[in-house]
Amino acid sequence: MGIPGSGLAKGLAVTLRTMTRRSVTAQYPDALPELPPRSRGVIALFEENCTVCMLCARECPDWCIYIDSHKETVPAAAPGGRERSRNVLDRFAIDFSLCMYCGICIEVCPFDALFWSPEFEYAETDILELTHERDKLREWMWTVPAPPALDPAAEEPKEIAAARKAAEKAAAARAAQAATEADAEAGTDGPATQAGTDADGERAPGEGDA
Ligand code: SF4
Ligand code: SF4
Repeated sequence: MGIPGSGLAKGLAVTLRTMTRRSVTAQYPDALPELPPRSRGVIALFEENCTVCMLCARECPDWCIYIDSHKETVPAAAPGGRERSRNVLDRFAIDFSLCMYCGICIEVCPFDALFWSPEFEYAETDILELTHERDKLREWMWTVPAPPALDPAAEEPKEIAAARKAAEKAAAARAAQAATEADAEAGTDGPATQAGTDADGERAPGEGDA
């Protein structure tokens, strides 16, 4: 059996300790919280990457992603090629009153079109206003932090390697084109100078007059 009044003393000790501790309450919205950069604030859409595959909408456990699209025919890239059809995004909306921020849509998107943004100030007084359309989702894209730097020993990512090779190929093609043009110019000027004529085929003054 404990000493009478020891429970009360313990309780008062806890109260005293808490009273002397510094308060951690943030006076939001006057003071904005310092959130980790990878906070799950809201979902942002990079619509250029979206191929309307519908995977995110199908996998969303809350069924709160709404996508509309139509098909368009793209002409053949080269003569004799085949026409292709592609999906064009008409609507992409997320109902954040249903979303449970599980992140499944972001994980399953095979084309890196969805990202977590740390933005959190989108509260509304009307629940219907919490369905955000593609323009708003795109605006949030610019608040997504850049991906962390790769490990120095890591392999070059496939996308970057492909982009670098394409840029090198284009630069080589430009250099070859410039060299061909320079050769062509030298070819027109060279014989004329040797023959003592200018570019118009006229004789240069003082040459061959003796
Ligand atoms: S985070 Fe989860 S609930 Fe929210 S839209 Fe994505 S899949 Fe659906
Ligand atoms: S999974 Fe990605 S690419 Fe497919 S519809 Fe969703 S956002 Fe677009």
